[in-house]
Amino acid sequence: MKPPSHVLHRSVRAQPQSAVGGSGLTLKLADGREIIDASGGAAVACLGHGNRRVAAAIGAQAQKLAYAHTSFFSSEPAEALADLLLAEAPGGLTHAFFVSSGSEAMEAALKLARQYFVERGESQRTRFIGRRQSYHGNTLGGLMAGGHMSRRAPYEALFSPSFSRVSPCFPFHYRLPDESDDAYVTRLACELDAEFQRVGSETVIAFCAETVVGATAGCVAPVENYFRRIREVCDRHGALLILDEVMCGMGRTGTLHAWQQEGVTPDIQAVGKGLGGGYQPVAGILVAERVIEALAAGSGVFVHGHTYQAHPVACAAALEVQRIIREEDLVRNVNAMGAVLEHTLRETLAGQPHVGDIRGRGLFFAVEFLADRATKTPFEPQRQFAARVGRAALERGVAIYPGAGTIDGTQGDHVIIAPPYIARAEDLERIVSRLDAAITAALADEISTEWSKVGHHGRHETRG
Ligand code: PMP
Repeated sequence: MKPPSHVLHRSVRAQPQSAVGGSGLTLKLADGREIIDASGGAAVACLGHGNRRVAAAIGAQAQKLAYAHTSFFSSEPAEALADLLLAEAPGGLTHAFFVSSGSEAMEAALKLARQYFVERGESQRTRFIGRRQSYHGNTLGGLMAGGHMSRRAPYEALFSPSFSRVSPCFPFHYRLPDESDDAYVTRLACELDAEFQRVGSETVIAFCAETVVGATAGCVAPVENYFRRIREVCDRHGALLILDEVMCGMGRTGTLHAWQQEGVTPDIQAVGKGLGGGYQPVAGILVAERVIEALAAGSGVFVHGHTYQAHPVACAAALEVQRIIREEDLVRNVNAMGAVLEHTLRETLAGQPHVGDIRGRGLFFAVEFLADRATKTPFEPQRQFAARVGRAALERGVAIYPGAGTIDGTQGDHVIIAPPYIARAEDLERIVSRLDAAITAALADEISTEWSKVGHHGRHETRG
């Protein structure tokens, strides 16, 4: 018998299978089995696995220079990555601060936003407004800004009252019967405005939102004009707009930045998963010129930093990933294959009585399950339906990303399909047909116990 693991896994009760290799969409397990990685982990593996160009870039950089402290030195890959992302100043974003995770990126966004106002002599601005059913990372700052109930729960007692939340833009569950897009968006903009008034408009630093909500609610794109109206509210009150595109950004939803489909630009944007495609832990914030100008005119120093910020090897990996996305025109493939994915999901799952909604953009789609579609009644949370579908899919050789608490943090089940940007139509057909079989098996409760301890994104787990 194997000795027990010394790794603190996500569950102390389960020893997950080891993944030992990967190529394209396929992950290889220690026992020789192959799994199609249909969600790129959590929308991370945008180029798929085993990309030799990225591996070579990492090796070359590690040999040339692995590390130099950013207090004293910059590095070629960090400069080149920032140039590639920002040379054309998309949406007025001119500077990048690179870190090692999406949570660190959101921490940096929150702190930079606060410091912006301190520099401008508005230190009475101490508050952030976020949204329910959102996720901004697992550090305390990220948890406070977000609205992921189960992840927040054990730590609520530590939270600052400087963070509050408004409703998400989640039409499938929260638009009123007969409410038009315009009326719905107006209602949400009024709610945000009222929250500014409630907490004191001159005390708010920023409003934080995922441009397309990822794991918490399952690929929820905003209703048209939502972000335009939200931006107006922020501008009216002199607050910044922080958009968290850690999951939905860097091409995932069919444009390099998800906000490019919304007619707004953020003051600070967080990017993550698709930046380095999982080849290195790398994320970052992209910052508008006016924020940098306030620092330049003030103390001149961002009072924040990490040992591994702008790590040369991480930046070299991200640089190669970003070059490949551009050279191979992969965002175009995201759009083309996104249309195939949506069509295949709608056609194939049309006969599934418990598929309540299919939604998303690009190669970022969720399937939400309901016990009763007519009344939009979810399954009982104890049934852990999404987790069952996830396990049944793994048994059929496909990894998807299950989530629970979709509707309000407790109720609701969904799975996310977020394959690599290199996916082909036949990959998507194979994924969706196995998902279809997995849903049928989960409904019939025909799941072996092999994957029974594998976590899911929702109620009692810690997945990032
Ligand atoms: N923000 C969003 C929108 C995310 O989806 C995630 C990760 N799921 C994070 C922040 C946190 O990123 P990380 O897990 O890399 O810290």
